[in-house]
Amino acid sequence: MVGDEERRAVQEVLCGTTYVHGPIVSGFEQDFAAFTKAPEALAVASCTAGLHLLYFDLGIGQGDEVIVPAQTHVATAHAVEFCGAHCVFVDAEEGSGNIAIEQIRDAITPNTRAISVVHYLGNPVDMREVNAIAKKHGLFVVEDCALSLGATLDGVHTGLLGDAGCFSFYPVKHMTTAEGGMVITRHADLAGRVGITRAFGVDRTVDKREKSGVYDVTTLGYNYRMNEIAAAIGREQLRRLPGFLESRKRNFSELKARLQEIPELRILDSEVAGAVGSNYCLSIVVGGRAHGRRDELAAAMKAAGVGTSVYYPRPVPHMSYYMEKYGHSRESFPVAANISENSIALPVGPHLEEGDTAYIIDAVKKALFSL
Ligand SMILES: *Cc1c(COP(=O)(O)O)cnc(C)c1O
Repeated sequence: MVGDEERRAVQEVLCGTTYVHGPIVSGFEQDFAAFTKAPEALAVASCTAGLHLLYFDLGIGQGDEVIVPAQTHVATAHAVEFCGAHCVFVDAEEGSGNIAIEQIRDAITPNTRAISVVHYLGNPVDMREVNAIAKKHGLFVVEDCALSLGATLDGVHTGLLGDAGCFSFYPVKHMTTAEGGMVITRHADLAGRVGITRAFGVDRTVDKREKSGVYDVTTLGYNYRMNEIAAAIGREQLRRLPGFLESRKRNFSELKARLQEIPELRILDSEVAGAVGSNYCLSIVVGGRAHGRRDELAAAMKAAGVGTSVYYPRPVPHMSYYMEKYGHSRESFPVAANISENSIALPVGPHLEEGDTAYIIDAVKKALFSL
């Protein structure tokens, strides 16, 4: 939801002369750090770019393995692939769709270097358990926080529970910069290095150069910066984020209260002690009498004017690229596959207006009845 504030902020950047390496990106990083209480925050071109920079920094490559949840966006796995390392996929748990933590233990080998998790649909993974496993085996922990802005565990924001976390500002997420992402971490040394590798490996930013245009390149790096226009949108969005989160929570609760009474539907949700979710969407697994008819339900909802989606259309190891490369069977990762095939995500975002949740509930009931 972009409004006049964002438009004005973009206009202001365009009327100036600094589009990259400017004060707005730094300001956005400071604001984001304040919101999440992160010691370090680095704006990047996308969540995917941030994830890639973390694995690049870890120096993983051929022969190394990273634990990756099967039920996630391909970006979580792609970032590992970029480095030439091997994804070891782990199935989801039934109730929340989050990574099945007890299966992580069995997936660890002497080649494992890191564990990645996604806080699926904004529900925090129980990081106490994941960290305990990581500590025992000396593994780095990456949190994909693309769906978990605003989500905390024991009062600690997601992204600060493991070693580093990456957020996405792609348009459908909790807030947007059109394209963009943010890396947060407790590790100052890691942040320092990512600050360099996101900008070609150049040793000093424009403002730190004694002689204009003179710098050295100390390491290999990417062009994964965020620009001032994106950051200007982001700063305005971040100001509005608490309101966005509140309306998501309210819409989610309203939908949940009524939809959980319907026997054919099971709501994906989590009850990790001390966790506060960020209500990315309300995903329901369609079963019982309506089993196998998710697509018909989605079509009926569309006809009623309600946009729905699927998170995600296939477990990552069932995507053609991964099927061909890794050779997993269609029968593998059955819990994630069941969610992909039978779930439907209903909107809870701040774009919903008064009466919309009641309309959605009604539309779901009518659609189910007509099957
Ligand atoms: C959207 C999404 C991404 C990708 O984010 P980009 O900013 O588009 O790179 C990564 N992981 C998850 C879980 C996502 O939902």
